[in-house]
Amino acid sequence: MELITILYRCHRFRGFVYQHAHFSADRKSIEVAVRPRKGSAAVCSRCHLPAPGYDQLAERRFEFFPLWGFLVFLLYTMRRVNCRRCGIVAVEELPWGDGKRTLTKAYMLFLARWARRLSWKETAEAFRTSWDKVFDAVEHVVTFGLEHRVLGQIDAIGVDEIQYAKGHKYLTLVYQIDLDVTRLLWVGRERTIESFRGFFTVIGDELASKIVFVCSDMWEPYLKVIREKCSGALHILDRFHIVAKMNKALDEIRAGESRRIASEGGVPVLKKSRWLLLKREENLKTEQRFRLRDLLRYNLKTVRAYLLKEAFQQLWDYNSPAWAGKFLDGWCRQVMRSRIEPMKNIARSLRQHRELILNYFRAQKLLSSGVVEGLNNKAKVTMRRSYGFRTFRCLELALYHSLGKLPEPESTHEFF
Ligand SMILES: [Zn+2]
Repeated sequence: MELITILYRCHRFRGFVYQHAHFSADRKSIEVAVRPRKGSAAVCSRCHLPAPGYDQLAERRFEFFPLWGFLVFLLYTMRRVNCRRCGIVAVEELPWGDGKRTLTKAYMLFLARWARRLSWKETAEAFRTSWDKVFDAVEHVVTFGLEHRVLGQIDAIGVDEIQYAKGHKYLTLVYQIDLDVTRLLWVGRERTIESFRGFFTVIGDELASKIVFVCSDMWEPYLKVIREKCSGALHILDRFHIVAKMNKALDEIRAGESRRIASEGGVPVLKKSRWLLLKREENLKTEQRFRLRDLLRYNLKTVRAYLLKEAFQQLWDYNSPAWAGKFLDGWCRQVMRSRIEPMKNIARSLRQHRELILNYFRAQKLLSSGVVEGLNNKAKVTMRRSYGFRTFRCLELALYHSLGKLPEPESTHEFF
């Protein structure tokens, strides 16, 4: 059986024929010559319709699936058309390629699927190609997916911020968090009013007006845009963001107190206590639980802050907004007497956003809770796995690719 026969079986296109396959001069790759079928007109890349020929360009190489340790290339001499509809001379459109990209579409889909399971670097190494080509492949697949995705009705969204570039920069992520669909809808630069407004520009006013629930944290620019664009929706400050804020405050208190003890030459009781204090007690190992109990005997600011944080967790057990509200008020009063400034800041902010927090209880049974947290964790894993992503563009593509649930381009054959 010849290579050409196999190619016709899995990668056949009307209007084109495979001529012959041969080894390259260095014998490291296989080259397959492709030419247009006699009498078939080239297709204009602007209007996607056949147009009269104009001239020919240089031969181009399109990388195809490697075979038995040989790289495989399709060689094709591009034509240009003189398209009267578009009124220009344009390069022809090829069914197996995408603009100037050097990989075939089928191979790009293959690499992109692997780039979801492995890091981009590992994908490049595993298939003996470069990081740039994996980037190209993902960009091709994500661009197709964003153009062809169906937004449909969106009942609930969650907006979240995430840090990147060693924590110096922020992204705004918007998720759809309906009970039956959870996916990343949008990635924006920064966490400003303008960046979040960009999401609403993409979905349009009609879809925005039908959103029923919006989850967010207490970040003021987000709150402002939500008031402006989703005035009819129930706005919820969700549990995950509040707990995250509290953990951050506790961590600050611990670090400060630990430094103070060290500078005064005291016993370093807070050393290596970070995770003991940040994790929920039920998630600690037995040995850690003993160390925590030990630590809690000291009269430290950190310990008092920890106990306040733990007491706060009871809030989430309430079903009724009224009782939750009562509990919240009591907790805030207690914190305001505590003389622990970072915790007092939290209490002030919780008081200020009281109604939005109580909306959590009003919506509790209608939203799959914890979903924003789950998506946020997945986003962090995507970012961690891809240390090559320093630019916004890479990160944006990687996030859409792993969390967007985007439709994929069709293929002539299931290659894998
Ligand atoms: Zn045209």
